[in-house]
Amino acid sequence: MSEQEQQTAPEIHEGANLSKPNVVLEVDGLKKAFGGLVATDDASFQVERGTITGLIGPNGAGKSTLFNLISGFYDEDDGTVRVNGADVTDDEPHEIAEHGLIRTFQTPRKLEGMTVREAMLVGPQTQLGESFLSLFTSGEEVQQQERANLEDAQRILEQFEIGHLATQPATDLSGGQMKLVELARAMLAEPEVLLLDEPVAGVNPTLANKLRDHIARLNEQGVTFCIIEHDMEFIMNLADPIIVLDQGSVLVEGTPDAVRNDDRVIDAYLGGPGE
Ligand code: ADP
Ligand code: MG
Repeated sequence: MSEQEQQTAPEIHEGANLSKPNVVLEVDGLKKAFGGLVATDDASFQVERGTITGLIGPNGAGKSTLFNLISGFYDEDDGTVRVNGADVTDDEPHEIAEHGLIRTFQTPRKLEGMTVREAMLVGPQTQLGESFLSLFTSGEEVQQQERANLEDAQRILEQFEIGHLATQPATDLSGGQMKLVELARAMLAEPEVLLLDEPVAGVNPTLANKLRDHIARLNEQGVTFCIIEHDMEFIMNLADPIIVLDQGSVLVEGTPDAVRNDDRVIDAYLGGPGE
């Protein structure tokens, strides 16, 4: 081994790198089967605070299932999830949100009959959904609180340069604008860790660039990201490290360049599901 090689950290790990400093999210031995189909198979990895960590893998590798397990939307068969050192394995999504972890969905939910600003306040992560509905039914104090919430929503929309969309019907947004609103909405809960599931799927290149800039801005402000993304160019330019999932487990983890050129990763993508 040359002197130079000895000085640099290994660029790729078989399985995940499980010896990180300052871990904000830790997944240990997670398992989930749907009937006979094992979607998550002893998955373990760590997300270091302050990083943008990419999560990639072929279709059906179990990426979205992993996010559903971590964020409390699915119950695991085995394994643990820790956020900021706290065991949140058996917690509900809103409790996990209180520990600082928020996720967005691969397919944004339908938001009929709402303006963009109102849609910002609906959802388990913000816990404002129910009280939002009471805007129409109860007293002065609640209404004041709801007005404050709407002001917060407006402020965050403006940070995302989409303040002008606030009073438009949410259903009028393009897919790309909806992804931007989803990200803005997640920020209402002031997360420490944000899980994004395919943030630029179906998004035009101009909006994808905007999303990238906003993610980078939020990361500079201290938000940690774990991002599932199919668009290789997008994720390889934004994230480091990259964790590769295959058939429910972590195959390798490394720098974008190391992962891109790894034969195991290339084989996993060529092999396809059920190989
Ligand atoms: P990815 O996001 O990597 O494409 P998923 O996590 O969505 O993969 O899916 C992994 C596997 O688990 C797939 O075979 C998928 O069909 C299956 N799966 C995911 N969610 C469910 C579910 N709710 N019920 C049954 N099977 C599921
Ligand atoms: Mg998915």
